[in-house]
Amino acid sequence: MFKPSQRLATLPTPATIAMAARARELKAQGKPVISLALGQPDFPSPAAALDGAVAEVKAGHTGYPPIPGQKPLLEAIAEKFRRDNGLEVSLDQLMVCNGGKQAIFNAFMASLDEGDEVIVPAPYWVSYPLIARMFGGVPVEVACREEDGFRPQAEAIRKVITPRTRWLVLNFPNNPTGAILERADLEAIAAVLRDAPHVMVMSDEIYEHLTFDGRHHLSLLNVAPDLADRILIINGMSKAYAMTGWRVGFACGPVPLIKAMIKVQGNTTSGICTLAQGGSVAALQEDIAGVRAMRETYERRRALVVGALRQIQGLSCAIPQGAFYAYPGLSALIGKKSAGGRVLNDDVAFAEALLEEAHVATVPGSAFGYGPHLRLSFAASDAELEEACQRLATFVQGITD
Ligand code: GLU
Repeated sequence: MFKPSQRLATLPTPATIAMAARARELKAQGKPVISLALGQPDFPSPAAALDGAVAEVKAGHTGYPPIPGQKPLLEAIAEKFRRDNGLEVSLDQLMVCNGGKQAIFNAFMASLDEGDEVIVPAPYWVSYPLIARMFGGVPVEVACREEDGFRPQAEAIRKVITPRTRWLVLNFPNNPTGAILERADLEAIAAVLRDAPHVMVMSDEIYEHLTFDGRHHLSLLNVAPDLADRILIINGMSKAYAMTGWRVGFACGPVPLIKAMIKVQGNTTSGICTLAQGGSVAALQEDIAGVRAMRETYERRRALVVGALRQIQGLSCAIPQGAFYAYPGLSALIGKKSAGGRVLNDDVAFAEALLEEAHVATVPGSAFGYGPHLRLSFAASDAELEEACQRLATFVQGITD
């Protein structure tokens, strides 16, 4: 009989995936669910990507791929770093993974021993601590404050560094808050890292193109090139190119780390689907205008969603600077009762009640280490967003003491 391993027994399904699955289930039962749970662009993948994938098959590239990735894709990624980030990287500093998630998995598996610590500024994307725990890592949270714009303070990071610290995880533009780090923030963090030469940095930049109000993403590697042998950049095709289902992520880092990650990948997935790699080359080589157009749409939807949320009495909502999530606070509503009679003890109960009673799927902030909040993805159509906000307003109006 199946018995889960001890490690898996304590590992939950990520809340993002769990809420999306629950929404799908209810939809299949005929419920009129609007899902704002998953960070899933509602745009089709670029036409060039489809053509690139087809060309790959027609060229007969259907055998096992090289584990680190196919050369044309590694070259296109190197060119991306040159074009978008002003960074010169060599091909042996790069690898292609099955989504950004596998890059994180590879890095943690390659580097963590039992009891090693991973610093994760909160709010954080659900999966960093969960993947670290898969390899015996101990997540160490540093709470960011809303009044600091949800940006981690360098001195707070310094305080939690110990001899067991292996990684600091930075994810900016941030999922779930949309916070962006400015040059001064990165310089302060770099100064702390210079005093802690045993700490590596995982910089997940998957939302780099989704920045608003004329802001631009800056990478720690731009600000602190002297730390190059300790910085692992994670990125991928999912968010910027609306290619979530293609599962193409990539990593750029110091050669010994990338080599170790390739070894992990050779022992797990044996590389990434060749069609998806062909499609990714074509998408990366296309004019970046398509990505910019999607960003403008997200910026417009941000105004729509934040404007609507701010009109709902009992919710507070900061303006996200990037990514495509709104992250309203719920503290004024916790402990009260929904119209359907559910006690809203915390944000998990709130998200559940909202799904059951108003058929809007979101993710509770506590899954991101910072509640009571809700994360709503605004990578959905205007009509869905308007309807979801209307339902949320009605749901909140129905709440009583
Ligand atoms: N990054 C996306 C999100 O936060 C995808 C979900 C996942 O892979 O967990 O919704």
